[in-house]
Amino acid sequence: MAKRATDDEGREAWAGFALSIAGTTHVGRVRKSNQDAFDRFDDDTRDETLLVVADGMGGHRGGEVASRMAVGTLGKLVRELDGEPDERLRLALERANHEIHRLGERDSMLRGMGTTAVALLLRPEGKAILAHVGDSRIYRLREDRFEALTEDHSMVARWLKDGLIDEETARNHPQRNQIDRALGAAETVDPDLLECDLRPGDLFLLCSDGLTGMLPDEEIQRLAARSRDPHAIVAWMIDAANQAGGMDNVTAVVARLDRA
Ligand code: CA
Repeated sequence: MAKRATDDEGREAWAGFALSIAGTTHVGRVRKSNQDAFDRFDDDTRDETLLVVADGMGGHRGGEVASRMAVGTLGKLVRELDGEPDERLRLALERANHEIHRLGERDSMLRGMGTTAVALLLRPEGKAILAHVGDSRIYRLREDRFEALTEDHSMVARWLKDGLIDEETARNHPQRNQIDRALGAAETVDPDLLECDLRPGDLFLLCSDGLTGMLPDEEIQRLAARSRDPHAIVAWMIDAANQAGGMDNVTAVVARLDRA
């Protein structure tokens, strides 16, 4: 995937950082198909890297089609479009929404399909643009502070935020899988976007709810902090989610930035 120069540990020289990225997905222990998708896209002209995770839903094949369409469309359009990074990301999400929705209306086998999407765009000036729709998440580990930078688009997440329920109740709530924003669900979509700076030592995690539904944040943080190697971290996360039940497809993508 990566064409950049790498050091002995496989870290890429990028924008004054030593960057390492790993991602993996697993069907879990209950589901028969994996409707999660993820990928990494490098734009050598702009010297930026885009990471995307999508968690599809709906129908027999719909979820798989929707999540793959979301990842592929974002990767293609963020590179092809002109404009500021956040506008390219927003427009790409809107177009992906439109295409998934339109195909879902045309094809009876795919009717009602939709997908979450989280995207992290690493920019060479030392910042990241984050975008999301649904309940896939982006976390950041910075020194000892591990926090979700995205807020789930769900009722259960709002109850949690308002202090009406605690984290464990939220994780086990019967309505926890009901999201109120998804790509493809309606003719238009309203993604959340935000920007943050990049610092040496930062670790970003993009994941589907097959991880966060199985493991409390403290456990995810413990695994994220256990090694400097993203490949080891994502492998442990998948194992831990499966050991905790593996009730859903699980996807984890980790990007780590170190001092060059
Ligand atoms: Ca899921």
